[in-house]
Amino acid sequence: MRTNSALLARRSAAVPRGVSTATPIFADRAENGELWDIEGRRYVDFAGGIAVLNTGHRHPRVIAAVQAQLERYTHTAFQVSAYEPYVALAERLNTLAPIEGPAKTILFTTGAEAAENAVKIARAATGRSAVIAFTGGFHGRTMLTMALTGKALPYKRLFGPMPGEVFHAPFPIAHYGITVEQSLKALEFIFKADVEPERVAAIILEPVQGEGGFHQAPPEFMKALRALCDRHGILLIDDEIQAGFGRTGRMFGIEHTGVKPDLITVAKSLAGGFPLAGVIGRADVMDAAEPGGLGGTYAGSPVACAAALAVLEVMEEEQLLARAAHLGARTRARLETFVGRNDLRPIAGIRGPGAMIAFDLVASHGAHEPDGAAAKAVTAKALEGGLILLSCGVYGETIRLLFPLTVSDELLTEGLDRLEDALRIV
Ligand code: PMP
Repeated sequence: MRTNSALLARRSAAVPRGVSTATPIFADRAENGELWDIEGRRYVDFAGGIAVLNTGHRHPRVIAAVQAQLERYTHTAFQVSAYEPYVALAERLNTLAPIEGPAKTILFTTGAEAAENAVKIARAATGRSAVIAFTGGFHGRTMLTMALTGKALPYKRLFGPMPGEVFHAPFPIAHYGITVEQSLKALEFIFKADVEPERVAAIILEPVQGEGGFHQAPPEFMKALRALCDRHGILLIDDEIQAGFGRTGRMFGIEHTGVKPDLITVAKSLAGGFPLAGVIGRADVMDAAEPGGLGGTYAGSPVACAAALAVLEVMEEEQLLARAAHLGARTRARLETFVGRNDLRPIAGIRGPGAMIAFDLVASHGAHEPDGAAAKAVTAKALEGGLILLSCGVYGETIRLLFPLTVSDELLTEGLDRLEDALRIV
């Protein structure tokens, strides 16, 4: 029989440690919110392949669409022979995205590629070079997106020097002591000390920081950024790669703020488990790059486009935006019952819009001193108890819950029961 430990040994010998894995288990099969490892053990999956599976593992509609596509063609390269699923998906995204005026969409394969290309497009459209991002933000691991990502360890160490013209302002998070006013003041200082606003092509941020700990950008902050961008001719890039596709109870996380960005990056849950990413933006901005300047051999794979079109149908038919609100409310109510209990580890900061829910492990009840070691212990204990759980956050103190929006109330409850057990002190 194949065992997790035997495969782990083979993996350690064959695969570099730079790509780390949150759990020591190897997947055998998965269905909606459940996963079985190669030893036959069943897990409730609250990780969703890192926010990719808002429609769950192997949604039947997605699998059927992919199977139908496999029977026709799997790859032509959009740059050689174009195909309808790409165009149809672009049309759907253009209609759905909160962009002012006509929109256009270009597709890629990974989130980092989308973020890189959003910056390329912004540079082409403005004729400017600089980009401002935020502390705690995550935009990818490629050379430019690593620079955009607002976390040095483990993403930047050993990989310098960083590409130039990237600056960071503190993201406003009340319990870290950073107010909206302070964050805006820091931007002013960047304009004074590092780069004049006329040299800034774009400001990029997540509407709800994902890897940074599920911190939502306050609406007044987004509005101030929009005004700042308008004043200086800077483009606002909204990275929806983790917050998008219904997770927050809206199709796009930024819809909670009423602000319309110039460019939006999408990936992850867009295609229900198939590699696909995109940049959606104002048509005039999107057309700034010259023919041949954008693209990629596999960018906008027809198989992934077929999956994404099915995902959008499922979201509508199964009313997953309303479902996100329902599941989020249930989860929050249950988490509230864990607060202040002496038989459980201390937690605080239950937060997040819709089903983009997280909380922090803290040093003591009633305080908010982050305890990353406790979060690590909880994810490990959860796995022993049959629950796949991911941490995140600046100090690794945050537990994020990424169950599918297609999960049944029963499976959600089972997962939350296992979470409660994982929080139990011995
Ligand atoms: N942006 C955000 C907000 C993300 O959460 C991620 C992935 N965690 C990325 C970009 C990068 O996506 P990928 O790993 O597909 O390159």
